[in-house]
This record gives sequence, C-alpha cells and structure tokens, in this order.
Amino acid sequence: MSDLESFRSETRAWLEANCPPALRGKGGSELEGVWGGRKWDWSGLPDQKRWLERCAERGFSAPTWPRAYGGGGLAPEQAKVLAEEMRRLKAPPPLIGFGLTMIGPTLLAFGNEEQKQEHLPRITRGEIRWCQGYSEPGAGSDLAGLQTRATGDGDHYVINGTKVWTSYANYADWIFALVRTDPNAKKQEGITFLLIDMDTPGVSVRPIKLISGSSPFCETHFENVRVPKKNVVHKVNAGWTVAKALLGHERTMVAEAFGSGGGAGGKRGTLGERAKHHLGSENGRLADPVFRDQLAQLEMDTRAFGLTMQRAKDAARAGHQPGAESSIFKVYGTEVNMRRQELLVRIAGPQGLGWEGPGFDPEELATTRDWLRSRGNSIEGGTSEVQRNVIAKRVLGLPD
Ligand SMILES: Cc1cc2nc3c(=O)[nH]c(=O)nc-3n(C[C@H](O)[C@H](O)[C@H](O)COP(=O)(O)OP(=O)(O)OC[C@H]3O[C@@H](n4cnc5c(N)ncnc54)[C@H](O)[C@@H]3O)c2cc1C
Repeated sequence: MSDLESFRSETRAWLEANCPPALRGKGGSELEGVWGGRKWDWSGLPDQKRWLERCAERGFSAPTWPRAYGGGGLAPEQAKVLAEEMRRLKAPPPLIGFGLTMIGPTLLAFGNEEQKQEHLPRITRGEIRWCQGYSEPGAGSDLAGLQTRATGDGDHYVINGTKVWTSYANYADWIFALVRTDPNAKKQEGITFLLIDMDTPGVSVRPIKLISGSSPFCETHFENVRVPKKNVVHKVNAGWTVAKALLGHERTMVAEAFGSGGGAGGKRGTLGERAKHHLGSENGRLADPVFRDQLAQLEMDTRAFGLTMQRAKDAARAGHQPGAESSIFKVYGTEVNMRRQELLVRIAGPQGLGWEGPGFDPEELATTRDWLRSRGNSIEGGTSEVQRNVIAKRVLGLPD
C-alpha cells in the first residue's frame, strides 16, 4: 500500500470514528457553518462543538497549516485526500470564516513569528472570529484612498476613522484593518496593515440593516484607539502589498462560496428538483423547454466552474498564492450565482417574490431573500467592473 493509500484508510477510519453521525450527509459551505469566536452561541450545537474540537486537535480545521500553529501539517496531496473523504461522508467543514480563509494565510505569508504564534492556533480552534476593515465611506473601489489615520505615540498607534460594510463586525473579536500611517506619501505607499482587538476602548460598531431584512454588515468607528505597534503585519507603510495578497484569498473564497452552487439556494434541493416542483414535468423531463435549456446551461457552467475551482484549490494546497487570476474566479463565480438566483425566482413565479405571510412556504421566502442577497455578489470583495480592470491590465496585459 502506498503512503497516500494508507493515509486515506487511516483518515477514513478517523472520520468514521469522530464525525458525529448527526452531521453526516449535511455537507456545508464556506458561508453556512460554525464561525466560532468569543461571542459564538454554542447552545443547541453540541455535535458541531465536538466536531470542531476533535478536528482542531487533529489539525484538520486547517489541514495544510504547519503543526506548530495548530494546523495539520498535511502535504497538498494528503489535504486533497482529506477533502475527498470529508465529501464522501458529506461532513460539514468543522469551522468557517475569515480567520481561516483570509487573515490566516496572510499571516503565514507575512506575519512575524510572534504574530503567528499568537493568532493562528486560536483561529484553528475557533476561539477568535475576525472581520475585515478595508472599505471606508470614501474608499471602496479606490481602496488606496483610505483615510483612517494611525498616528504614532510611543510604542502605540492612535487610530481615528471609520470603516464601512465591515461584515459581521458585531460578532468579531479582532479586525484586520488598513490604516494610513503616512498622509504625505503616494497613496499606496502610506498604508499599513494592522491587527486590532475589537475590545480595545474607542472601537464601536453599528450594524446596517439591508433590504433583505438582515444586518450582515456594520459601520466600525475608531476614536483614539490605542493599538500596540507590534500589531503591524509586515512593515510600516508597506501594507498595500499585504492588502493585495489578502484580496487574492478573499476573491477566491467569494468565488468558491457562491459559484459552487453550494451557497445560498444550494441547500434546498437541486435546481432541477425545484424547477420540476414549480413548473411540472413531462416524461421525467422539465415540462418547459425554455427553462430546460437555461437550466441545463447553468448546470454545465456551474460544473465547469466547480472543476476549475478544484484545480485552483489543488494549487493553493501546494502553496500557490492566488494572484490576479482570482479576479477571473470572482467575476465568474459570482455571476453564476446571480444567474442561479434569478432563475430560481423566475421558476417560482409570483411565489418567488414573497416577503412574509402564510401564502409562502419557507423555501419560497428563502428564495426571495437569497436573490436579494445575491445582488451584493458583484460588489463584495471588489466590484465586477474593478475585477475586469484587473483582468485587463494584469492578466491580459492590455494598456491603461
Ligand atoms: C455583501 C458585502 C460585504 C462586504 N464586506 C466587506 C467587509 O467585510 N469589509 C470591507 O472592508 N468591505 C466590505 N464590503 C465593501 C466592498 O468591498 C465595497 O462595497 C466595494 O469595494 C465597492 O466599493 P463602494 O461600495 O465604495 O463602491 P464605489 O467604489 O463607490 O463604486 C461605485 C460604482 O462605480 C464603479 N467603479 C468604481 N471605480 C471604477 C473604475 N475604476 N472602473 C470602472 N468602474 C468603477 C463600481 O464598479 C461601482 O459600480 C462589502 C460589500 C458587500 C456588498
């Protein structure tokens, strides 16, 4: 038996013995699951808690991270086997969130030893939940125009300013933020990447309510917030390099989370099943030929995209840092999801536009909300227009 085969049988046996039976067959996505953190409410989730504890102890919550930082230390091909075996059981990921997908990989690449020791093990155990402080009221697409100021004061910075659209800041324990440390330098050259504990005096968070009825993001205010200088990642005024690397991870994560069809809408039966439910079938086929054609095209595109993302994941496990190609994934993955949500609403007809009340079942109400949520897909993580600019310049090499 090869080493990889024995790793597979060992892993399969471990998963059989340790994945709580109630969680099997449920699958999961990078959007739905355990986010962890100090404020996470574990009540009613004993299986999820046990599953995370066991996986974290084995290093399976961050399989490819080094063992010294709470990871599994797995080689890329072993991590792939683990992912396959998890899929075989349809086991949910033990932990999701921006710690694993964004700041963790960034600290591995840019953090110093002390920062890695302090933050990475706590991420793998789901103890700390992170949020992202990039956008500001006057700096979204033009991110480098950000104005949140960090002024040196001894061994601390004093932070003043406002971040906006900070997803889940109201649940987060720490924020990774871009701050301006040199207002006189060229705008990209005066930015520093800083880690800030959300419990520091002067940090306040105000949730923003959306059209979908939920409040997934917030305004985050900093008023004379004192942050130790040792929380600078990489170098002072060199935060733009770190910021761009993290965006590569973010765009790949957003693409994967939405474009795979496993995100919003993916839990409530396949598109085909739902189409048959609403439109009826003839000889086992969807009755309406126009929808049948659109549905087949969407399913093919989703499948092709899923295979591309598998390839990208294999490369990431092998240590490849996502570059400008993550913009292609982001545009395509989010567009596939937006098409999916549009199609679901059209298939459901008037039943797909319910907001509340007895005339709609829970699946139909979720269809409306998921469709509204998907409108943000072409904006979050950098808009589709901005991604197309990146692809034009950095992938295709077109002139400005
Ligand atoms: C669901 C969601 C979650 C988010 N979560 C976070 C988060 O956790 N943390 C965080 O920091 N931010 C977050 N954001 C913010 C997001 O990154 C910004 O909304 C995004 O970068 C766009 O910035 P803006 O909203 O200021 O729009 P603007 O930059 O003002 O853009 C307005 C319009 O102009 C277009 N445009 C701008 N510049 C160009 C150009 N050069 N060429 C062509 N068109 C252009 C844009 O494409 C857009 O259509 C989130 C956003 C959403 C929707």
